[in-house]
This record gives sequence, structure tokens and C-alpha cells, in this order.
Amino acid sequence: MKETLLTILRNEKTGIVEFRTTAEKLAYVLAAEVSNMLEKEKVVVTTPLEKTDGFKIKDDIILVPILRSALSLLPPFLKLFENAKVGFLGLKRDEKTAVANLYYKNIPPISSKDNIILLDPMIATGGSGSEAIKILKEDGASEDKIIFVAVICSQEGVDEIKIKYPKVRILNVHVDKILNDKKFIVPGLGDFGDRYFGTPLPVIK
Ligand code: URA
Repeated sequence: MKETLLTILRNEKTGIVEFRTTAEKLAYVLAAEVSNMLEKEKVVVTTPLEKTDGFKIKDDIILVPILRSALSLLPPFLKLFENAKVGFLGLKRDEKTAVANLYYKNIPPISSKDNIILLDPMIATGGSGSEAIKILKEDGASEDKIIFVAVICSQEGVDEIKIKYPKVRILNVHVDKILNDKKFIVPGLGDFGDRYFGTPLPVIK
């Protein structure tokens, strides 16, 4: 399922409407996978017939989309994790140096027990992701409670994050092999945010 949805996102012929609906479907699949990765605790549930064991997610959840492209993943994650708090990190990478600069931060208070679900559809150099994890840890997050959710990662990006933050778990659909000289993931899918939000505006000839 994930790979077929990713194929649609990768296709340059996929228009904005299909790109958006496919990104939404994929985010639901990823959110369901994340829920399987979270620690559960036993609860007792009474069915119409008798009591039995059930489960609930153990600790609170904070969703942290990295602006802007991860806003596309947020609504499905909020549907599955309805009680989650949401924190925002605005990290814009310098197109020339690919260094991530923080321009916005609005994060709720974090306890070391909280499950942090960091969202960014494309992990290219790993610069924004590493910066985001650094900020979250400074704010009180436990490294082993952070799950980083992406659609496509580059091998370089995964390595960068794993070297700096070995306890962070990364969930993705595919790891692509290379980055080009503009630090775009190849084959990738292009600029996720531009394709989802429709920017830059098409040139009318
Ligand atoms: N961000 C994107 O949207 N695409 C890439 O290939 C790299 C970063």
C-alpha cells in the first residue's frame, strides 16, 4: 500500500488534487504504523458478554510538524491521535548551503515521558530533522520517545540523524540513495511542499 501510494506521489504527472489525496492516504497508513510502535498499557474492557483485556496508548502524544510541508501529514495524524497536542517548528533550509534556520517555534510543555511524533515528509540532508530533535531534547523530550515520520529519506539524511541521535526511531516509506547538488533527493518526488501547496505558481506562457 505504502509503495503504491508513493509511486503516485513520485510521478511528475500527478496533479495537485491527486497529490493531496494520496499524501492524505499515505499519512493515515503511516499514523497507523506509528500507533503500533507506541508503548501500550493494559486496560480491562467490559464487552456486552464479559470483561476482557484491552490496551491503550501509555503516554501522551505530541505531534510536531516541521513547517511547511509536514502540515500535509498533520490532519490524518490528528484524526488517529485525537488527544495529541501539537507543536510547530519552522525550519527553512538555505537553498545554497542547505543549512536549517529556525524561524518559528511554538511547542507545548514537554515531559520526558511524552511520545513525540516528529513529522517531515522529506529527510534530505537530515539538517532540519537534526535541528528539530536538538530543540525537542532541549525542551525536555527523551530521545527514545521520539519517532520521526517521513515519506522519503536519503541515506545521507538517515545516517546523519542516526549518528547524532541513535535512539530516535525513523519511520519512512523509502530510503533513496542520493542527493543532487541542490540537496534534492533523487529520484525523490521533487519539492513536496511546492507540489502539495501549489507553489511556486505555474508560469503562464
Ligand atoms: N525537500 C523536498 O521537498 N524535496 C527534496 O527532495 C528535498 C527536500
